[in-house]
Amino acid sequence: MITQTLKEAFEVLNLPHMAAVYDHHAEEASRDSISYLEFLDKLLWAEIEAKKARATSTNLKLAKLPYVKTLDSFDFEFQPSANQRKVNELKTLAFVERSENVVFLGPPGVGKTHLAVGLAVEAIRNGHTAYFLSAHELISMIRENIESGRIHRKLKALNKPGILIIDEVGYAAMEDEVANYFFQIVSNRYEKGSIILTSNKSYGSWGDVFGNNVVATAILDRLLHHSTTINIKGDSYRIKEKKKAGFYDVSRYETDSNDLNG
Ligand code: ADP
Ligand code: MG
Repeated sequence: MITQTLKEAFEVLNLPHMAAVYDHHAEEASRDSISYLEFLDKLLWAEIEAKKARATSTNLKLAKLPYVKTLDSFDFEFQPSANQRKVNELKTLAFVERSENVVFLGPPGVGKTHLAVGLAVEAIRNGHTAYFLSAHELISMIRENIESGRIHRKLKALNKPGILIIDEVGYAAMEDEVANYFFQIVSNRYEKGSIILTSNKSYGSWGDVFGNNVVATAILDRLLHHSTTINIKGDSYRIKEKKKAGFYDVSRYETDSNDLNG
C-alpha cells in the first residue's frame, strides 16, 4: 500500500510532521485542484516550520533562562536610559552573527536581566542557541570543576552556545584562580561567540569584582573590543510596582503632616 511505504519513507527521512499532515494536505489538494508542485511545496514548508518550532522549544529549555520575557514587554518610557535605539539595533541580532558582546550596567531592578533574557529569546526564536547562568553559579561551577579535574571539559562546553549570558557579575567575590578561569571563558569566546553580561558595578570597580586589576583589565579588553554597553540609570521597576500596590503610600504621610499644620 502506498500509505505504508510513504509512512516508512517519512520515518527514514525523519519527517514526522509530514507524516502527520500529508493525508490532510492530499485531500485538500485534490478538492481544490492544487498542482503537484504546489502540494509538494506546502508539505515541505509545513515540515520546515514544525522543525523550527521544535528547535526553538528545545533551545529555550537548554538555555536555562530564569524566566521567559520578551523585549516587547519592556517599558522603555519608564526607563529612558535603557536606550531603545540601541536595543532595537541589538534586536536585529547582527551582534550574534558578528560574535559581539552586550553589557547591561545599572543598579538592581532597572531591567538588566529582563533585557538580557529578551535578547536571548529573540535570538533563540531565530535559530540561535544560548545558555544563561548567574555569575554566582558560574563561580561555583568553576570551583567544583577545578576540584573534580573537569574544568577544561567544562570550559569547552561554555564555548558551544551562540550566546553565553552571565548575569549579576559584581555581587560575588572571586579568588585569583576563579578570576583566571573567568578570563579564559571570555578569551575563548572572543570573536567566536557572543557574551551578554549584566553587572551592578561600573567598569571602574571591576578590579574589586575580580579581586585583581590585571585580570580585570584583560577581561574588559576582550569583552569590550566588539561590544555594546547599555548603562541604565533610573528607578527600580520593582519599586514602581510596589508603589502602585500601595506599599509606598506617600499620600498617607502628606495627610499626617497636613494634620500637624492644621
Ligand atoms: P535587574 O536585573 O536590573 O535587577 P530585572 O530585569 O530583574 O532587574 O527587573 C526586575 C523586574 O521588573 C522583572 O520582573 C522585570 O521584568 C521587570 N522590569 C524591569 N524593568 C522593566 C521595564 N522597564 N518594563 C517592564 N518590566 C520591567
Ligand atoms: Mg538581574
